[in-house]
Amino acid sequence: LPAAFEAARPVLETIEAAGYEAYFVGGCVRDTILGKPLHDVDIATSAFPAEVKGLFKRTVDTGIEHGTVMILDHGNGYETTTFRTESGYQDFRRPDQVTFVRSLKEDLKRRDFTINALAMKTTGEVIDLFDGLSDLKAGVLRAVGVAEDRFHEDALRMMRAVRFASQLDFKIEPATLQAVTDNAALLTKIAVERTRVEWEKLLLGQTPVRGLNALLSTGLYQYMPLMADQRAALERLVALPAWQLTTVESAWTLLCWLTQRRSVASVRQFLKVWKTSNDLITHVTAAVVALAALQANGQLTSQENFDTGLDALTTANQVATVLGFGQSQAKLAAVYAALPIHDKHELAINGGDLLKHQLVTPGPAMGQVLAACLRAVITGQVSNEPAKLLDFARMVADSKNN
Ligand code: ATP
Ligand code: MG
Repeated sequence: LPAAFEAARPVLETIEAAGYEAYFVGGCVRDTILGKPLHDVDIATSAFPAEVKGLFKRTVDTGIEHGTVMILDHGNGYETTTFRTESGYQDFRRPDQVTFVRSLKEDLKRRDFTINALAMKTTGEVIDLFDGLSDLKAGVLRAVGVAEDRFHEDALRMMRAVRFASQLDFKIEPATLQAVTDNAALLTKIAVERTRVEWEKLLLGQTPVRGLNALLSTGLYQYMPLMADQRAALERLVALPAWQLTTVESAWTLLCWLTQRRSVASVRQFLKVWKTSNDLITHVTAAVVALAALQANGQLTSQENFDTGLDALTTANQVATVLGFGQSQAKLAAVYAALPIHDKHELAINGGDLLKHQLVTPGPAMGQVLAACLRAVITGQVSNEPAKLLDFARMVADSKNN
């Protein structure tokens, strides 16, 4: 068993000793069998939430209404969810009702794909009620049960299908793929935030082209925010020489670029609709602007390097590399490090100095003179020393007064 499972073993054994069943389930079992690193360990149990809480000293109700209790053990937290069935799904996205049950089979039946419906005991024995192991071996994504019904229950599963195709380099089985095609429009029922998470995972997967091709062939992309008219952009993405991205910032930068959203305003508007964070919007906006300058001029000016900042520069360069005009990251970092200053607060004079030497009076002129000083330092025209800058400021102020 992987180390993360070994660490959780006492939790499962405590539950079993009390006469209940407990298993590792879902993505962590799938990834263990594939030999991939685990990022979360999910435990499913026949014990009801109150019963779980009775067995451990310290627990937190992280999602008690749908059966999830976090067990705290030796400084670690383990999410344990009671076997449950779901029913209702009148809104194509979540069950109207969750019912706790004692049967593992019922719990596995509600899961999305056969490869995600595997359970594992602490002995390492795998419970495989839907032939998930053979699909895992063959690299196949197959809905548990009737695909059409499963996508009606929760339309997000269609996005999860294309996401796993990219992440795992798996084929989507024909009947499942057909059901995505037939039900694609239901994706509009899903909260943008949930669609976004799957879209980001798709773009950052090991074979994004597989997920993108499935998005294109099923037409599912048309129901993603602001993507209805972006078939050509997605086809360009598919046609690029094999690429791999490592950050969400570079994924969105590449997407903005290929969908011709290259101005600050259009990037912002696009990302607002996708409900990304303001930090991401700031980062991607800077990266896209830098990318445009890089493509136009082959390199960036000191001012552009300063304005962009190292993080967004790194993103722009990762995307430029995918597009065929990147440079070495080491060179980029060296050029950035060689800038005279990296933040406007490093300027050797401030507004107070200008007033003290009576170079300006309080008001807009002060900001303008300081901005001119900052530009002069960044471009290497004036060195960042108080005396040199005061001379320069005097010259700027004088020329303003004339
Ligand atoms: P990841 O590696 O991204 O965590 P995962 O498969 O573990 O992938 P989670 O969202 O962590 O995804 O969900 C854990 C498990 O819960 C899944 O493996 C699957 O069995 C089940 N599951 C999650 N989301 C859904 C869904 N929308 N419909 C049905 N089952 C789901
Ligand atoms: Mg998971």
